Amino acid sequence: MKNTQRRAAILEQVIAAGGPVSAEEIFERLQGRFPTLALSTVYRNLEKLAEDGLVEKEASPEGVFLYCGREEHGHYLICTQCHQRVRLLECPLSEVESKLEKQTGFLIDRHHLTIYGKCPKCRLHKK
Ligand SMILES: [Zn+2]
Ligand SMILES: [Zn+2]
Repeated sequence: MKNTQRRAAILEQVIAAGGPVSAEEIFERLQGRFPTLALSTVYRNLEKLAEDGLVEKEASPEGVFLYCGREEHGHYLICTQCHQRVRLLECPLSEVESKLEKQTGFLIDRHHLTIYGKCPKCRLHKK
């Protein structure tokens, strides 16, 4: 498999995930299609995609890097146990942004916000 093909498949998966995903999750999703793919390759490609500005990278509270498509603007609640994601229906920061623009003179073009916690299911089944 060519490098560019791999890279495109990885980027495609990040975008298809529709929210922040870890390298492991991308790896799992691609295993069926590319059985010879190594996790380290997924990591390397994600790093490169982040460097090139095609994906955004952020660290979760456990220090796991998560990646998401650059174009989509959305925010998520993520369960730190089962990794379930819930997309927030609206951006809670739009008012904050306009206030900040007034206060600082910045013209804000993007931001990150991901909220972590335990989903109702994991709250019930505490380990
Ligand atoms: Zn959960
Ligand atoms: Zn937002």
